Amino acid sequence: MSINTCKPRLVVSRCLGFEACRYNAQMLADDLIERLKTCAEIITVCPEADIGLGTPRAPVRLVKQEGEIIMIQPSTGDDVSQAMHAYNRTKIDGFSDIDGFILKNRSPSCGPAGVKVYASSEKGATAEKGVGLFAKAAMERFPFAAIEDEGRLKNFHLREAFLMRLFAFARLRQLIARPSVSGLSTFHASHKLLMMCFHQEMMRQCGRIASNSDGLSLAEMVQRYAAVFREALARQPRQSNIINALYHGYGWISEGLSAADKKLFLDAVEEYRDDRVTLATMLHLLKSYVARFEHEYLGSQHFLEPYPRTLFDLSDSGR
Ligand code: SF4
Repeated sequence: MSINTCKPRLVVSRCLGFEACRYNAQMLADDLIERLKTCAEIITVCPEADIGLGTPRAPVRLVKQEGEIIMIQPSTGDDVSQAMHAYNRTKIDGFSDIDGFILKNRSPSCGPAGVKVYASSEKGATAEKGVGLFAKAAMERFPFAAIEDEGRLKNFHLREAFLMRLFAFARLRQLIARPSVSGLSTFHASHKLLMMCFHQEMMRQCGRIASNSDGLSLAEMVQRYAAVFREALARQPRQSNIINALYHGYGWISEGLSAADKKLFLDAVEEYRDDRVTLATMLHLLKSYVARFEHEYLGSQHFLEPYPRTLFDLSDSGR
């Protein structure tokens, strides 16, 4: 059975359960981050406190000025953009091997999307939606890391895809750290069904790279493989692809199943298609076949347990 032994390296906004460092000296509890504390290596950041704005502090905001986005503290009139850019450069350059980020939504520093950008530091309407300055720098430096805000992760499907991505990137990082032809081939074999959920053509492309049909050096093979793998997982998995992956796994063991077992599985797939059972239920079924038939190949698929079970949670914001 697939086992998640590696811990992702995850950067998290510090106010999400680590320190009362928000502008109003509050901290926000976050259940997912609480559970991630035991199965990820977490590095926290609070760009605003770290550049010396103090806690509590007067809020800052993004302002569009002459086509450029700057960060202003309206109560003092201070432009703190340069301090923030300098912090980002130093902090982010110091990061290595980062697999993902969970950042505070809507923050002018941390928000990865949908952050209010004002037309001026005065009271007034927002000009547009943008990205927090720290989040922007992080995305530029780690374009294929798994990046989400804590608000979006309340959505069940977004959270599930994020966790799949995060732990897969951590395993990929282990492969890159100790590359070998056999390691790449094993990695690809054990991620086949998982990749199928995200992008089938890229899964096949990865297969061609792993079999080295182009006669590349090991370093080139791993580099190309990693690029395609990350690009594939950056997408949101489609339910039709997940169903395809379920059928694929089922195809490896279906010969040994009775007619009643086959009907049970096929009916369950249709219930999953109609959102009447969860993917976790389907994966349990596949795992029961692995146990029954001692099917090593199916059991090696990370798809069956893409992230630690302690992180599984059915709650859904519906948004
Ligand atoms: S959102 Fe970012 S900058 Fe604001 S308090 Fe949280 S960690 Fe600090």
